Amino acid sequence: MILCVVIAGLGLLWLLQFRTVHQASRRLRAQATENARLALLDPLTGLPNRRLFNDRLERAAAMSARSGQPLGLVLLDIDRFKDVNDTLGHPHGDALLIQIANRLTRTIRDTDSVARLGGDEFAVLAPVLESVQAGEALARRIRDAFIEPFDLDGLTLHVDSSIGLAVMPDHADDMTTLMARADIAMYSAKSSGDGPTTYQEPTTADGQHTSRLMLLGDLRRALATDGEIHMHYQPKIDLSTGAVTGLEALVRWNHPELGMIPPVEFIPIAEQTGLMKLLTARILGLVSAQLSQWRETGQDLPVAANLSARNLLEPNLDIVVATLLEMHGLPAHLLELEITESAIIEDPVGARAMLNKLTALGVTVALDDFGIGNTSMSQLGTMPLNTVKIDRLFITNLASDTSGQVLVKAIIDLAHELGLTTVAEGVEDEDVIQRLHTMGCDIAQGYHWSRPVPADQVPEVLARLEAQPPAAGIATPPPRR
Ligand code: C2E
Ligand code: CA
Ligand code: CA
Repeated sequence: MILCVVIAGLGLLWLLQFRTVHQASRRLRAQATENARLALLDPLTGLPNRRLFNDRLERAAAMSARSGQPLGLVLLDIDRFKDVNDTLGHPHGDALLIQIANRLTRTIRDTDSVARLGGDEFAVLAPVLESVQAGEALARRIRDAFIEPFDLDGLTLHVDSSIGLAVMPDHADDMTTLMARADIAMYSAKSSGDGPTTYQEPTTADGQHTSRLMLLGDLRRALATDGEIHMHYQPKIDLSTGAVTGLEALVRWNHPELGMIPPVEFIPIAEQTGLMKLLTARILGLVSAQLSQWRETGQDLPVAANLSARNLLEPNLDIVVATLLEMHGLPAHLLELEITESAIIEDPVGARAMLNKLTALGVTVALDDFGIGNTSMSQLGTMPLNTVKIDRLFITNLASDTSGQVLVKAIIDLAHELGLTTVAEGVEDEDVIQRLHTMGCDIAQGYHWSRPVPADQVPEVLARLEAQPPAAGIATPPPRR
């Protein structure tokens, strides 16, 4: 009898346990499914996110390639969305994005899908399109969805968007090209201020505008390959000893057809099209690899890499830098980062937080192009910086520019009071070296010593500078170890 009760009790216990475990595992499975679903949706608008969209696009592109049925891709971004966010605040910016998402969803057919790719960028995929003309009609319908003003808490707001269309197989044979071409069309709509724009093959007769668009597509490709993007290096000289104190790395793009394209031509394109993060990651990777190669040959000079304004506000920049240093076994003091004032002005709190993380790694930071912006020296005092680089606009003609001399002297004195090292850029002749030396400037760089040169010419330049007699009034450089 007792045995029967025990067995029945154990059976009951087992059943209860089984039920609990079963229920728990069902809950976990449901939770996992929900998490997986959420990972594919944009939390703000509930639309598919970039990941889900890419997946759909990939499938649709494969189908279109097999069936020959045209596939349309429309990319759009909201004009001056940043202004809405800045002037009305993020809650209103969010409310606007939700309303836009709803309107786009109402505009498209059941077979089409709309996604939020991030920020103020949306995409519409039309997997079964009759023709390019049908795609253009879709792009116009999307534009018309913006005609009626938006209502944000009783505030009437007119919002416009830049819309670009590309169609497979007319404009591209694969998903990546299709995406790049729709992007080019959108960029062209934005810069021309015209309505929805369909991708057009660039023609050389079409002047500079087309060549910018061509460059955008080519830059994407260049970043996906090795060799085209590379660095040149320019030495920096200690004005009291004549010794080389370090090098600045400057990016170069050797385009297969157009030859060398200067950074002032492609950096703005990279910045406007979201490619800058990728480009900077490449630049930092190239500089780290070069530093480690030089260390193996016994050359231990620090190298400065330039960051673009937005780079500083990317949340994981410090992790990228720390990983590269570790990967290449580099002491952090060998890497210097040059940032510009605009990075600090846009978001001083965010910039300071990132600069603190970077300097905590041991990396040094220089403020580039100082003097042409609006930052005051007192603002600078609160930022974790090591160096101020005085813009070459004030330096190159310093010898004959008396008001420039007053300004440069003031910058040098203030920087020293804040404990910062001063670097003058754009030094082309001895007169300027003398003046800078008298004013107490610490370091200088410029064509007088060397133009930026490819890495393999750096040892030669260093040897020449070591042998070169220093400018009059400046001490002889100590022999390099
Ligand atoms: P920057 O950072 O102010 O770089 C200094 C520029 O002055 C370089 O032009 C350099 O070649 C030039 N320079 C050096 N010495 C002299 C001189 O004595 N006289 C004159 N007239 N010019 C001199 P570069 O390489 O064409 O770069 C132009 C700008 O493009 C850079 O200005 C920087 O803002 C940007 N840039 C270059 N490389 C990079 C990079 O790797 N990343 C980022 N984000 N920006 C870069
Ligand atoms: Ca620089
Ligand atoms: Ca500069």
